[in-house]
This record gives sequence, structure tokens and C-alpha cells, in this order.
Amino acid sequence: VCLGAYELGRLLSRAPGGAGSLLIRGGLVVTMNPRREIMSADIYVEDGRIAEIPSRHTAADLVIDATGQLVLPGLIQTHVHLCQTLFRGSADDLDVVEWLRQRIWPLEQVHDFTSVYDSARLGIVELLRGGTTTALTIETVRHTEAVFMALAETGLRAVTGKAMMDRLEVATEMIGETTEESLRESLALAKEYHQSSGGRLGYAFCPRGPRNCTEELWDSVIAAAMELGTIVHTHAAENFLQSQRLKTDGGTDIRYLHGLGATAGRLVVAHAVWVDEEEIALLADSGTAVAHCPSANMKLASGFAPVPEMRDRGVIVGLGADGAPCNNTLDAFHEMRMAALIHKPRLGAQVMSAQEVLEMATIDGARSLGLELEIGSLEAGKRADIILLNREGSHLWPQSNVDPIVQVVYQHRASDVSTVLVDGRVLLADGELTELDADEIHARAEESARRVFARVAASGALR
Ligand SMILES: [Zn+2]
Repeated sequence: VCLGAYELGRLLSRAPGGAGSLLIRGGLVVTMNPRREIMSADIYVEDGRIAEIPSRHTAADLVIDATGQLVLPGLIQTHVHLCQTLFRGSADDLDVVEWLRQRIWPLEQVHDFTSVYDSARLGIVELLRGGTTTALTIETVRHTEAVFMALAETGLRAVTGKAMMDRLEVATEMIGETTEESLRESLALAKEYHQSSGGRLGYAFCPRGPRNCTEELWDSVIAAAMELGTIVHTHAAENFLQSQRLKTDGGTDIRYLHGLGATAGRLVVAHAVWVDEEEIALLADSGTAVAHCPSANMKLASGFAPVPEMRDRGVIVGLGADGAPCNNTLDAFHEMRMAALIHKPRLGAQVMSAQEVLEMATIDGARSLGLELEIGSLEAGKRADIILLNREGSHLWPQSNVDPIVQVVYQHRASDVSTVLVDGRVLLADGELTELDADEIHARAEESARRVFARVAASGALR
């Protein structure tokens, strides 16, 4: 039987967490496996994992008809701020320093538990509807438990951490915290949420930037992350003047992080726009992953990260939308298209092929998180994080002589995503959310945004 969204939702409510079997039949499958195979094949899923591909099964507890659709691994974004979704459209046409000081820091400061929760749910719904199934996120200094609660309920896969900021500079004192508070709260969150929700959620220690934390806190974070086997995620080398201003004896951001020992563990740095050859070598040789955020880097006028050069040197590069107020969408298709286009004028049309860009949004995103054995491609044994793309739109024709990967990167849109599975749990079917009420989430987000903006107006901090 093939089921609509309503029936799917009912069926799945009886089988939470994707238990049971599921067959995705008749689609054109872009596997992103090591041979990068594209095949017309059925996929058989059992207890949340891909059991067979191609599959000869003809029946399952649930059959999804993918005829005429593309089937892909769920997209992975390695840099997002869910707590900022409420600030979308309220911090535009500013460079990153003004953007932070005049808008983002004052706004984050007036967040409460409910507004962080509503912000996260809005971001999660947008991500899921747009085919993103995994995100690495940095939240604000406080209320990160609200983000974990939203993640646990909604079904997105995520590695998340609270922003750590114990070193104060102009305009950060309002959201700053002591070294001890920062570490204590981070460790408590890691203990509660790392490897929670059946392994779907992980913890990342998130010093906000190399110079937003004291060296003492960095030392503790690096040691704790090694001990717990977690990621450290931070911003680095985003804005030229900022990176020059903050340059100390430890040198530019990447050198400074390396000097601290942060590159010895599993480190993911967002942006890496202003990096020289030596720093690229440091990133590559230490296995540090970079999250490329092309839209945010353009909108905040930060610059063009040398992604083709980093990839050539062997740096693992993933893709991220960054926060909603600097993009202004969380659409992975926008980010793929942007990543494919912006490096060509400088280095030639052949760089950043559609194939390479899709690798960044799937298997290289998984490698960035150390999850390449679990997600990032459609292969037997991996978790069933799968998306289906509708190919009916006029922007997707003709189809007979076109590489589907070219279509994914240059032509598809978030609105083409019809079906989304995480851990074999069907979260979107035929374009409809199966478990969540988008209208309700939008309305609550609107209400929380109203409260946050009233509070920030009263604080007088918004300029
Ligand atoms: Zn960011």
C-alpha cells in the first residue's frame, strides 16, 4: 500500500523512532557511496537503518512510492544557529561586527527559555522541509536545553552546544559569563544530551570564537572534548579587520587555535575566510573540518573562503546556512548553488563542480562530524536519513540527458523536497509534515519574536 501523509503519520505514531520495515520504491537513487553510483533502485529500511540497496523486497510495513522522484541522502549542514531564527529579517545590510554588536548580542541577551524553544522549532521545521536532516549548531549562552528539547521532539539529527563566552569585549559583557559557569553548564548539557534520543543528538563544545574565551577555558574545553569524544565547534577567520584586530602573540585565528591544541581533537571551524597557505596546511594536516557558509560570507561582506584551495589541500569542507539573520534562509539548496557559483569567477568555471558541492552537503558533512559510517550516503548499514525530491517543476525539465546531480545543485529548490526520513522515521511525506504543525510553530515563533523585540526595545541595547 502507498500511503498519504495523514496515514503515514498515523502509522508512524504506532512505530515511533522508525521501528519496523519500510520500502522506498521506484526512485532514481543518488547514493553518494564511494563509487558515487546513481541507480534506479528500491531501498529497504529496517529498524531505522538501510538494510538493502538495491532491494528485491516487494513488501514492507510501509511502502513509499518514489516513482519519478530523486532519492538522496539527507542533506547535512555543519554550521547553523537555531536560537537566531527569530531574528530573521532584523539584522540586514550590516557587516559582521556591526551585525553582532548592534543586533545579535543584544537580541540573544533577552532570549528566555520559551523564545529559544520557539526559535529552534521554527528553524528545525524549515530545515526538515528543505531536506536538511542533520545540523551542527551553536546556540546562545543560556537556555540551550530548550534547543535540545525541540530537537528531541521534532526528529532532526543534530550536534549542538551552548555558546561559551567568558572573555568580554565591547558589547559582549551583557551576555558574558564566568569561566566556571561556562564550563559547568557545558559539561552538564553534555552529560544530559550527548548521544541522547537513540544516538540522534550529540553535544559539541562551542567556544563562540577563538577570542571570545579565555585560554583557561579553551584548555578545559579541549580536555573535556577529548575525554568525552565530542566535537569542538567555533567561528574562525570570518572578517578581515576583525581577525587583524584580534591578532595577538598567538597569531591569526587558525594559528592561535592550533597553538592552544584545539586542532588535536575533532574541531570544526565555521567560515575560514581569511586563511593563508600555512593555515590551510594546518587545517588539512590536523583533520580540522571547515564549515563553508557562502551566503552568510557574502551578506556580511566577510569575503570568499578559499574553498577550492582548501579542498585541493585535503581539508574536509562541509556547508552551512549559518543563522537566519545573516542569510536569510536555512535552505541547503541555496547554499549548494552559492558554493558552486561564487568561486568560479576567481578560479575558472571548472572549480566546484556540482558533484563536489553535493559531496560537501552530504558525505563530507558527515566526515566533518565524524559520522561518516552512520550517515552521508545511501548504503546498507547506514542510518535511514533519506530525502525524496519531486521532479515535476518546470525548472527541472528536460530530464533525459541531464546529470541528476547537476539538477540537485543548480536547479532544485527546497520546495521540491517531498519526503524526509531521519532514522527511518518519516517526518515529511508528500510535502506535508507528519508529526509537526507548521502553522502552530509559525504562530508561536511570531509571538515569541514579539516578546523578544519588546524586551530588547525596553533594554535600549538595540541600535
Ligand atoms: Zn555562525
